[in-house]
Amino acid sequence: VIWLGQPEHSVITTCAYCGVGCSFKAEMKGNEVVRMVPWKDGKANEGHSCVKGRFAWGYATHQDRMLKPMIRKNISDPWQEVSWETALGYAASEFKRLQAKYGRDSIGGITSSRCTNEETYLVQKLVRAAFGNNNVDTCARVCHSPTGYGLKQTLGESAGTQTFASVDKADVIMVIGANPTDGHPVFASRMKKRLRQGAKLIVVDPRRIDIVKSPHIQAAHHLQLRPGTNVAVVTALAHVIVTEGLMADEFVAERCDTASFKEWKSYVERPEQSPEATEAVTGVPAAEMRAAARLFATGGNAAIYYGLGVTEHSQGSTTVMGIANLAMVTGNVGREGVGVNPLRGQNNVQGSCDMGSFPHELPGYRHVSDSTTRSAFEAAWGVPIDPEPGLRIPNMFDAAIGGSFKGLYCEGEDIVQSDPNTQHVAAAMMAMECVVVQDIFLNETAKYAHVFLPGSSFLEKDGTFTNAERRISRVRKVMPPKAGYADWEVTVKLAQALGYPMDYQSPEEIMDEIAALTPTFHGVSYKRLDELGSIQWPCNENAPDGTPTMHIDRFVRGKGKFIVTQYVATDEKVTRRFPLLLTTGRILSQYNVGAQTRRTENNQWHSEDRLEIHPHDAEERGVKEGDWVGIQSRAGETVLRATVSERVQPGVVYTTFHFPESGANVITTDNSDWATNCPEYKVTAVQVAPVMQP
Ligand code: SF4
Repeated sequence: VIWLGQPEHSVITTCAYCGVGCSFKAEMKGNEVVRMVPWKDGKANEGHSCVKGRFAWGYATHQDRMLKPMIRKNISDPWQEVSWETALGYAASEFKRLQAKYGRDSIGGITSSRCTNEETYLVQKLVRAAFGNNNVDTCARVCHSPTGYGLKQTLGESAGTQTFASVDKADVIMVIGANPTDGHPVFASRMKKRLRQGAKLIVVDPRRIDIVKSPHIQAAHHLQLRPGTNVAVVTALAHVIVTEGLMADEFVAERCDTASFKEWKSYVERPEQSPEATEAVTGVPAAEMRAAARLFATGGNAAIYYGLGVTEHSQGSTTVMGIANLAMVTGNVGREGVGVNPLRGQNNVQGSCDMGSFPHELPGYRHVSDSTTRSAFEAAWGVPIDPEPGLRIPNMFDAAIGGSFKGLYCEGEDIVQSDPNTQHVAAAMMAMECVVVQDIFLNETAKYAHVFLPGSSFLEKDGTFTNAERRISRVRKVMPPKAGYADWEVTVKLAQALGYPMDYQSPEEIMDEIAALTPTFHGVSYKRLDELGSIQWPCNENAPDGTPTMHIDRFVRGKGKFIVTQYVATDEKVTRRFPLLLTTGRILSQYNVGAQTRRTENNQWHSEDRLEIHPHDAEERGVKEGDWVGIQSRAGETVLRATVSERVQPGVVYTTFHFPESGANVITTDNSDWATNCPEYKVTAVQVAPVMQP
């Protein structure tokens, strides 16, 4: 329902859903939002929006919002409402008790890509300065950590190279493992506009996603690969480019590291990397791969856009590096219309990584072992910083089950629903003695919590989000925090209760500290953000207004580095018992674990997760449209209704993961990316069989 009256006032803020980062005008009547209007001057969206940003903000005032702090000694006890002082004091005393009993490294913190930059910065500061260890991680661990690793190795910076507007100058667009129509709708519209103007499209995806064929758009090539074979496909494309003499020789000679190029070239030109040799593995016809490689290398400006279908694999980081190799060898980096463009899922994935919420990196992607960087933070924070990396999220779970990790502060993240192998995560949670959950709802993770701290929605706080194009935009408070404090204030008070003197009057002060300590943010301030509308980092003495396109004259690391990308098959194999491969994704109207969108009218468009199955596989199992089916994997089993569809190829099934009762992560496994531990959500061997309605 769209409200048609006149607002009393309005506030410009940023959508809290996906990594497009659309700007909105929140139109207000008193303290109540009456309408969200896409802001025409927003640089990421230029007045456009999707059904999430425009209509799905009502969760902020939903009756399920938790507004009182609560504690309980055991997770089987009923919750007891207490004052903020009591809850924070109890959490702090429990964390201190655990460290005294089990050691300094027995506790840690997890922050979320839904939080603002300022909040995330504070969580990693709390862990490093008040807990005294590096056991901090972010939910980017389970989505784009391979992007951070892969792009740093090859290009020198853990971020996308372009602006969204850059797609307007692309002649060839390659979409790998991303479904922009559902995941990044406003950017998808811009991409589709360019395709309708004549740009050519290559899609690399196991599923026939919408953009393969939509009104006035027909992909030139859809490489419908078998899940888990991205590296083989990307390397085969490189093979064609190298062996057919389609390389950008001058660019490679001037801009790239010679030794790494020679090693890489001698690897990819081997006959066993050819499309013909890898066809049986990838399932993609060799001729199709050859034609796609030729188009990519010779079609003009070629831009690559990729998503979680690249990163959430046991070789996620390898594929990211393979994508960077493709861009470098064809000279498609460093100007408009080209580049390597990770489509970040959540609103602040880029920002949460930028802010140092990884166990091995301080803000600005600087390793904790770097003594110069550490000294700067030690001087500012007044405490020593551990030079050893801490635990990643999966390591925290393993250590909890092993008995050495006992306490967790989890802000804005529902790890029990969102992380793979739910049974393993639940066992880890139950093994901990103090779990503190800070969230707007009593989520699945809170079922295992001892302290619940009410969180604040994006409408109740000031701060910034950083979108997929490195664009920092202001989040502005439009109403007071419903539970009394904004999230950043809660973290400050927890640090104080722990005895660490954290003290800020506003998020602006936090950003000033971030800017002072982070070279790529030296020029960022709320004043500059208000003047410019938004800023793409790096923003500093060399780039006072920010940096729309990166790596223009030289790569951030100096010379671009080619990395050999050897295909290694995932451990997750199909067998007679588990003959199908399950892959997962999102749908337009819902969002991730659905905690927000399920509590809005968006739920009417998609109110359950379904299993998409090819007609051939459905018939073989006697499954008809709408039937209930059991899905069994090596990790567990769940039940969904079936949608029979040719969008998936035979042998592959697909589901979304927006509803806790669907249990998508009950069946996903512990396999993860070799470099970053990003879970392999995209490949799970399963069996599917009809069952009675549960
Ligand atoms: Fe929000 Fe993304 Fe939709 Fe924009 S495209 S309105 S950022 S969900």
